[in-house]
Amino acid sequence: MLTIRRETAVYAMSPENAPAARVPAGETLVFETADCFGGQIVKETDKLGALDWSRINPATGPVFVEGALPGDTLKVEILKIDLADQAAVVEAPGEGITGLAASEENTKILPIENGCAVFSPALSLPVKPVIGVIGTAPAEGAIPTGTPSFHGGNMDCRRIGENGTLYLPVNVEGALLAMGDLHAVMGDGEVCVCGAEIAGAVTVRVNVIKGQPLPLPFLVTPEHAMAIYSAEGLDAAAEGATLRMRTFLMDCAHLPAHEAGMLLSLCGDLRICQAVDPNKTCRMEVALGVLEKLGVVYP
Ligand code: CA
Ligand code: CA
Repeated sequence: MLTIRRETAVYAMSPENAPAARVPAGETLVFETADCFGGQIVKETDKLGALDWSRINPATGPVFVEGALPGDTLKVEILKIDLADQAAVVEAPGEGITGLAASEENTKILPIENGCAVFSPALSLPVKPVIGVIGTAPAEGAIPTGTPSFHGGNMDCRRIGENGTLYLPVNVEGALLAMGDLHAVMGDGEVCVCGAEIAGAVTVRVNVIKGQPLPLPFLVTPEHAMAIYSAEGLDAAAEGATLRMRTFLMDCAHLPAHEAGMLLSLCGDLRICQAVDPNKTCRMEVALGVLEKLGVVYP
């Protein structure tokens, strides 16, 4: 199977990035990923403030998917996420929400043992791997890999994991897919500025859907479907995610506009993905069982 090595990384998503590889639609491939610190934190004396920030948030790739043209949708099926044997989490003054109250920098290493991230001798957290950064290139300009936006990017959505299918916009020929920033486990909000940051390898299958039948980025997991939206503030992110999901219910479940809004208020769950990045990200999710009764078919 084709493997994109973690040494092939970008720090911004841009149409100017040379492809690391070209693959046909339908291809299954592996992205090896470094952790968001670029591997610079390996022990608890390694502190955030001492890092080389030019090496933060590497995204492996980009990969050119043949047949993907601007205005199409890139379908990324996340088949498997393998994790390294330890994760790191940091807290520092001024970083994230809890950093507003932090007085010093701290690093914690979490060994991965028997499918758990070991937080303390008393507490092991079952791993639930997440892809923090995954996106396509914008049509023009360069979006830092630390920023989530319309192209995907640093969404830090804990639903983006194994057995999920993520739909992203194709803005340039080939889409230029890149990803990184795995988390062994994370909570909604990512309030201390990071998850359990870890290196790993992600196996995906990529396909091209002509046109954009879904509001993008859009995610279907084994349990939910959701619109994901990033904006400068949480209010705008919440509004965007909600209105995108309303559009989905109108276009794909064929509900009249008012019923789409009503249904979201009755059984849609509006959640914060992350509240700590340069843009904030929310999702509006609906259980697949509800959508199935409405006859929704995913492309
Ligand atoms: Ca992130
Ligand atoms: Ca991260």
